[in-house]
Amino acid sequence: MIFLIKKVRVFAPEDLGIKDILIAGGQIEHIAKDIELEGEHVNVIDGQGKIAIPGLVDSLVHFSGGGGEGGFHTRTPEMHLTEAICGGVTTLIGALGTDATTRTHTDLLAKSRGLENEGLSTFCYTGSYQLPVRTLTENITDDIVNVDKFIGVGEVAISDHRSSQPTISELARVASESRIGGMLSGKAGVVCIHVGDSDTHLDLLFKVVQQSDIPATQFYPTHINRNQQLLDAGIQWAKSGGYIDFTTSTNEQFIEDGEIPAAEAVALCLQQGVNKTNITMSSDGNASLPVFDENGNLIGLEVGKVKSLFDSFKQLIQKHNVSIDLAVTVVSTNSANILKLPQKGRLAPSVDADLLLLDDESLDLQWVFAKGKVMMDNGVVTIRGTFE
Ligand code: ZN
Repeated sequence: MIFLIKKVRVFAPEDLGIKDILIAGGQIEHIAKDIELEGEHVNVIDGQGKIAIPGLVDSLVHFSGGGGEGGFHTRTPEMHLTEAICGGVTTLIGALGTDATTRTHTDLLAKSRGLENEGLSTFCYTGSYQLPVRTLTENITDDIVNVDKFIGVGEVAISDHRSSQPTISELARVASESRIGGMLSGKAGVVCIHVGDSDTHLDLLFKVVQQSDIPATQFYPTHINRNQQLLDAGIQWAKSGGYIDFTTSTNEQFIEDGEIPAAEAVALCLQQGVNKTNITMSSDGNASLPVFDENGNLIGLEVGKVKSLFDSFKQLIQKHNVSIDLAVTVVSTNSANILKLPQKGRLAPSVDADLLLLDDESLDLQWVFAKGKVMMDNGVVTIRGTFE
């Protein structure tokens, strides 16, 4: 299928102005003014009144299910294809969560390949919340070098009662094995760090960087908007060269308890002079979100939504007056760069045709292309998951 999108405002993420975009063979073929191409195989889309941005890159999704902290019945379900499509997410990185006992890497990889068969681009983290990490083969390095889908390690939990309370040397070792795996295979080899709500915040990461040869950029800490103190520590971490990731899945109770909405956290960081390339957002999709009553009793569970990433992207622009190009950088380009995915996170010739068309006023999602295939056409989902 060949698509020619005419007269669309292109954010690549930088604002390229009004251009035509030619999509062929699953890739972006050309972006220029007035591309002329005719023929029965050319589908022309009127891009007037629309903006084109790269598909979102969600660096943490429990797409094979997560949760389980309230017993077996609280294990969250797998993600369906359309949950990603409706949120404009075309690249997802899957991970195990708290549970690396009933959840396995083989299952994670199978779900990852299933989503790929259905049209998305997926990658995975090896490892687990707890150390010593679970791996598929002998160790982290072998996993990253030998298994195409593994691009790093995560989520490894710190500052959390559910973590294995890792020591400086334990965490440094995980990071070094991941780093070597990344170097040998040309992958990112980053360590995605789940940061919990204990008041040690990012202390362990600072210590590992101080006391070892591991650079701050080897770590990719997430949930940094969990509370104001953690956000402050995150800003300090980012100013010393590290990356910080904010989680968009939330509920009213989390916000009442002090969580900062991801978009607000990004806006705060930008105001405080954090380098824009060090900030990202991810959905933490399909994680469990517990709901408690006023006495602290668990009264229900919700499931994190991948679509929250797109909602937070809109909030960045509509509520916090962040420019479109900068908002795109935060939800797509930065994560693609940190995860070393050169085919993702931007609109340019020869990259994968992961592309979204949004209404230029409402920013509502209208079209989704994933590797050149139409997944949403004028607001209507065209491809559903196998069991949807
Ligand atoms: Zn987590």
